Amino acid sequence: MIFDTFLMVDWSGGNDRGATPKKDAIWVCAARGGMADAPLYMRNRHVAEEWITDFLKAETDAGRRVLAGFDFAFGYPAGFGRTLIGTDDPFALWDWFAARVQDDPKSNNRFDLAGDINAHFPGTGPFWGNGLQRDIPHLPRKGLARDGHGMPEKRKAEEQAKGAFPVWQLSGAGAVGSQVIMGLPMLARLRKTFGETLTTWPFEPLSTPIALVEIWPSLIAKNIAATLPEGQIKDAHQVQVMAETLSAMTAENLARLLDVPANTEGWILGLGHEALLTQGALPPPLKNDCFAMPQGAHWTPVDTALDHLRRELSCVTGTRNIPLKDAANCILAADVVAARAHPPAPNAAVDGYGFAGPAPEGINRLPLVQGRAAAGAPFAGNVPADHAIRILTGANLPQGVDTVVLQEDVSATASDVSFHGPIKQGANARKAGEDMQAGQVILHAGRKLTAADIGTMAAAGVNKLRVHQQLKVGILSTGDELRDPGDATTDGQIFDANRPMLSALVGQWGYDVIDLGRAPDNRDRLRNILDDAARRCDVIVSSGGASAGDEDHMSALLEDTGSFALWRIAMKPGRPLAMGQWQGKPVFGLPGNPVAAMVCALVFVAPALRVLAGGTWQTPARYMVPAGFTKSKKEGRREYLRARIENGTAVVFPSEGSGRVSGLSWATGLVELADPAQKVAPGDPVAFLPFHSFDA
Ligand code: AMP
Ligand code: MG
Repeated sequence: MIFDTFLMVDWSGGNDRGATPKKDAIWVCAARGGMADAPLYMRNRHVAEEWITDFLKAETDAGRRVLAGFDFAFGYPAGFGRTLIGTDDPFALWDWFAARVQDDPKSNNRFDLAGDINAHFPGTGPFWGNGLQRDIPHLPRKGLARDGHGMPEKRKAEEQAKGAFPVWQLSGAGAVGSQVIMGLPMLARLRKTFGETLTTWPFEPLSTPIALVEIWPSLIAKNIAATLPEGQIKDAHQVQVMAETLSAMTAENLARLLDVPANTEGWILGLGHEALLTQGALPPPLKNDCFAMPQGAHWTPVDTALDHLRRELSCVTGTRNIPLKDAANCILAADVVAARAHPPAPNAAVDGYGFAGPAPEGINRLPLVQGRAAAGAPFAGNVPADHAIRILTGANLPQGVDTVVLQEDVSATASDVSFHGPIKQGANARKAGEDMQAGQVILHAGRKLTAADIGTMAAAGVNKLRVHQQLKVGILSTGDELRDPGDATTDGQIFDANRPMLSALVGQWGYDVIDLGRAPDNRDRLRNILDDAARRCDVIVSSGGASAGDEDHMSALLEDTGSFALWRIAMKPGRPLAMGQWQGKPVFGLPGNPVAAMVCALVFVAPALRVLAGGTWQTPARYMVPAGFTKSKKEGRREYLRARIENGTAVVFPSEGSGRVSGLSWATGLVELADPAQKVAPGDPVAFLPFHSFDA
């Protein structure tokens, strides 16, 4: 790694913003190894400069190389310095500004200074945008009022950066000119303070412990928008994502970003390499034909369909850092490493008496050392040979102790303790790191975090994790006959069972459920709903309308996208499964029958969503149990029966009718009967798959 620490700064040209964090203020954020600290709010430039200086000192003192990024231009369009001060040296320009800019937290002279600068140039300009009430000589209020100043409007970098503002504009929405004037003096002072240990890109080769670079968060605007937590200030999030992104990059990719020709205007880090910059933060989209099944097979076996999903699907979510307490059900985006050994030191596993083991056979009588060792209150002294000390569970073993005898096995007086040997050396003692070693990978990327995982990480001192963004799953029901439970109904109408059921299921799996409501059997209405869903969701799960009948509009619409596949899966229950993409978002079209919808959701959608969410492919646990039923099945399809365990046998719901949703409630899982023909008699082993094992 070229740099250890990445410090990103969102600068501001304005005045003091007050004590409470606000937008359009200065925000800073540091990251190492893809993990950012919390972004920090700086109310004004004085506070920020002091903090940045201290931070750079601390990092370099600790032997870490720092890449510090600032979101303003490090130079002006070519020729500016020469006309103003007679040199193209950008650092001379920094010093020139440092000598002239007056910066009180509540006011500054940037507009007057810009007017003074304009006076050095012929015509009117180049600076414009007087943001003050009073008129300022030589500083026009409008950009169009400028004329004949002879400066290029943009730097080479701004010509290439779509949407970047010219450095001449000092006020108005999006203007950056003030930030530059109020930022260069700070850079000049950092250069003075850090001398030989600091270099600036791309003016100088970077070989020092501190490197200054120009950044522009708009280059990764998409990632920032996609990961902005509700209620978070965008400027704060921006520096955090930038710091995380750069610090998570490989050294090779970072070197590519830094590899630009030296110039005197400055350059934006990552410009022209946006894909490299965003890689890893947002995964590449799915292939348009990811659901296309090889032609030929009339009926697709379940395993073939699963293999296909496993091969073709990939993660569609970005990543974020979260505190441990929020991590349940999240999917790890990076391996988790123990911050500390567990246990951190050898300690007692029981309440009792500690001594240097082993204790020989027969009666052992050991004099007691004064004092005791308790959890969180270690005994500081040494326990001499052939002595013992009172010790409690969890207490660090004092010097001279490696063995503990259980308090129930001793008779103790105020001065000594006796017990029967033999006792092995190390008995009732836990070794340092016997559970986890510091630095050891304790959980791997792709894992969905359980309550136990949260405990494991807490014990290892981990308090921040990199996880995938929560997958946003839209749930939609289709069919003219559907009404919501509680609605008035007329003949032929039924209640929508699938949407509440599938929403609950997907919510249980830990995803963000987005209710897309009900779509009537009307192609235009469904199209509008899908358009809206594609904006709000990562994936869409619908039920009904998925076959190839007259009213199967989902299939018809997906067909038009060119990404559609109707999988005729050799399984019961379940009719065709319609899959495709709507504006790049995968759509799973489940059968309308609630039982078929549920079974298809468990068998296909559960593992598919897990992969889309950044997890590893899941195969449900199958428990072989004796059958409590009789059944004869046809060859060539897999069957799933609603089942539960009674008296150690798998019993099945009396009706296999796939509209009987109450049978799903009765059941606690599914019995899976393999594809070949078979006759099941009571006592024959069958595979039982508990409902919860489909997304365990
Ligand atoms: P379809 O797949 O649209 O042909 O629907 C198959 C069967 O499932 C029909 O009997 C539908 O009325 C029923 N159905 C479809 N969607 C739902 C739903 N959301 N809730 C309950 N039943 C449904
Ligand atoms: Mg229908």
